[in-house]
Amino acid sequence: MPPATAPHSQALVDWLFLDLNSYFASVEQQMHPELRGKPIAVVPVDTDATSAIAASQEAKKFGIKTGTNIGEARRRCPDLITVMANHDFYVEFHHKIIEEVERHFPVHIICSIDEMACKLDAPRRRLDVALDLARRIKQGLRERVGECVTCSIGLAPNRFLAKVASDMQKPDGLVVLLPEELPGRLLELELSDLCGIGRRMEPRLHACGIRTVADLWEASSETLHRAWGGVCGDRFWHGLHGGATEDDVPAAHRTLGHSHVLAPEFRTPPAAGIVARRLLLKAASRLRRMKYRARQLHLSVRTEDGPRCEAQAKFEEGADSIVLARVLAELWERVMKQARWQRVKKVSVTLFGLVAEALPQQLELFHSPDASASKEQRENLSHVLDQINQKYGRDSVVIGFTPDTVRTFSGTKIAFTRIPDREEFKE
Ligand SMILES: [Mg+2]
Repeated sequence: MPPATAPHSQALVDWLFLDLNSYFASVEQQMHPELRGKPIAVVPVDTDATSAIAASQEAKKFGIKTGTNIGEARRRCPDLITVMANHDFYVEFHHKIIEEVERHFPVHIICSIDEMACKLDAPRRRLDVALDLARRIKQGLRERVGECVTCSIGLAPNRFLAKVASDMQKPDGLVVLLPEELPGRLLELELSDLCGIGRRMEPRLHACGIRTVADLWEASSETLHRAWGGVCGDRFWHGLHGGATEDDVPAAHRTLGHSHVLAPEFRTPPAAGIVARRLLLKAASRLRRMKYRARQLHLSVRTEDGPRCEAQAKFEEGADSIVLARVLAELWERVMKQARWQRVKKVSVTLFGLVAEALPQQLELFHSPDASASKEQRENLSHVLDQINQKYGRDSVVIGFTPDTVRTFSGTKIAFTRIPDREEFKE
């Protein structure tokens, strides 16, 4: 009879998940040696009314974390140093980190600016080999990216559990969750420690009689289906129990969009319309750089005091700014009619139904040869615009009118769920 727990030399894992520790704060400490060993909080603006967007290990000992109000943080730790965020550095380091990880093994999915996952190949699935890979990555980051750049790595049968494992030991962790040992160390966790169980999900689980991770583990996939209200529950069950998850298509590539909350002076419909177009052109430029085409566009607008109004359109796949801007203009009319042309607080533009550019394009049955030629010309024009903007800076050439005041709207911001490419700063 095989032993209940396989000897580690024979154990297998499929995913390596890497999470950088106190990322923004560590980059600051790397760049500024005088900040090392000190409690620091990275802030978006220089006022005590704001909240930390990152805290160093030293600050975390005082209970300061992402989201802690700075006034409160100073009460907890009078020596706290606040540092204004330098997003350029964080992106620069992000690319250096990817480069270093990829010296050891290809990154399969970049999950956010400080998280990435590698799907291990057959030789590296052996636990001893995977552990060695993890240690070499950690050492490489320290030696070639910076001594302050540490990470926690999780090894597990799927990406979900590998992420959970990476969260279990900080800083500089290395945690393994083996399928044959589950639930094992998962039982040490609270429900809210699991990615996918947020503040809204927890009460729904309670309503199904699930209060602990042990309860969650015992629950059937039907129960989780009910708790989540759909297939997400089945997927969660599958992931929790170590099943393979749908990770072969990077989810980040399936939709592509931008949204913006408008400053009060830009909330009139005409100004908001310009912002919407700016967001679309930026998304279109990213679409082309990723060598994708889109087949649908979604526009959503939230008015200052009304509900959210939205509309979407399907079109023949394309990546051409002129055509996309035309589709947007139609959607804008529809959405603003719904919104009764009230002042706009937030605009979101999303391209989806993405397909890789390499796929052969569908034959355009009802288009004359001239019309398809002009389509090709338009796409070429879009590429030329991208190149000019790359070379001479953002907004050197744009389609339509972009007043100076609107330019800063679509400036590159760090999203925790998406990493700006270096090129994107110029779009
Ligand atoms: Mg992190």
